[in-house]
Amino acid sequence: MKRVFTAGLAIVLAWSIGVADAGAETTKSKQQEKLKELQKNEKTKHTELGKAQIELNKLKKEIAPIEKKMAEYDAQLEQNNKDIIENEKLLQQQKAQLNKRVVHLYKTGEMGYMSQLVSAKSFSEFLARIEGIRLIVKTDSVLLQELNATAEAIQKSKKSTEQLRAKLQPLFAQSKAKVEEIEKKTKALDKELANIKHDEQVTEAAIKEQERLERIASQQYTGNYGTGRLMKPAAGTITSGYGYRWGRQHKGIDMDDDKGKKIVAADSGVVILAKSDPEGYGYYIVIKHSDGLSTLYGHMYRSTVRVSVGDRVRKGQWIADIGNNGRSTGSHLHFEVHLNGKAVNPMPYIT
Ligand SMILES: [Zn+2]
Repeated sequence: MKRVFTAGLAIVLAWSIGVADAGAETTKSKQQEKLKELQKNEKTKHTELGKAQIELNKLKKEIAPIEKKMAEYDAQLEQNNKDIIENEKLLQQQKAQLNKRVVHLYKTGEMGYMSQLVSAKSFSEFLARIEGIRLIVKTDSVLLQELNATAEAIQKSKKSTEQLRAKLQPLFAQSKAKVEEIEKKTKALDKELANIKHDEQVTEAAIKEQERLERIASQQYTGNYGTGRLMKPAAGTITSGYGYRWGRQHKGIDMDDDKGKKIVAADSGVVILAKSDPEGYGYYIVIKHSDGLSTLYGHMYRSTVRVSVGDRVRKGQWIADIGNNGRSTGSHLHFEVHLNGKAVNPMPYIT
């Protein structure tokens, strides 16, 4: 009776541990998915941001010549205004002069040129008078011409002002539209930047959480994992051994096989790392075993990996497919054995 009860309890315990693990697993993979999504979003937003900045710079460049032209026209307008004010002053003076002249002519009776000529008592007097009249007429004529020129100059300036205003109007509209667009874009960029910053914070928090989970995963499983005797993790022939190769340390062994062929766990253990290293290992995973031993599997493609961090794996369990990812010139498995964090020759461990 007692034995039955104990066995039942053991089953219940095992079951509840299993359930708890399944829950943790779901949370972890959800976290990973969220992180992936966030990082993708961030990348997209950075691309958009770059594009928007290029557009903004283009607009700023486009507006510069318009504003230069506007400034030129403004300077001309100002000169016109100065000219008009000066000429109007001159015109007033000239008008006053002419008035004075008219008053003088009127007062001296010089208005009636003909009557003066007619009333000449002698021919010599007539000649003297006609000479005088000529002088008077000439002076008046010059005065009138000057006055006319001033009035014309004023008209010309006013017309030029009108033309300049007509030219400025569309430029002003253009510049206003561009300034508004720039303001709109700048605002949108600011908003986007704030979004990115927020996303980065969220991503960072997610990464921290992921790291925390990974730490827990690697610390939690301190039990006895594996025998310390490893099986060959892939079927292919070993084409490259451990040690110096082409002037550099080869930290593992290579097993050539076709892409898609199985990679299995060399020993039982727990997955403590699963990540991408595009310039090196490609997608790789690390499995922790007992007694400071861990194994690393490289050059896989993420899509073929069947385990994630925190997973407990059995010796011989299918964990991924052989790939050609990262710094790799043909499909093969790069396999490393680490003892207390340092790469060692895997061969003595493989039985
Ligand atoms: Zn290798």
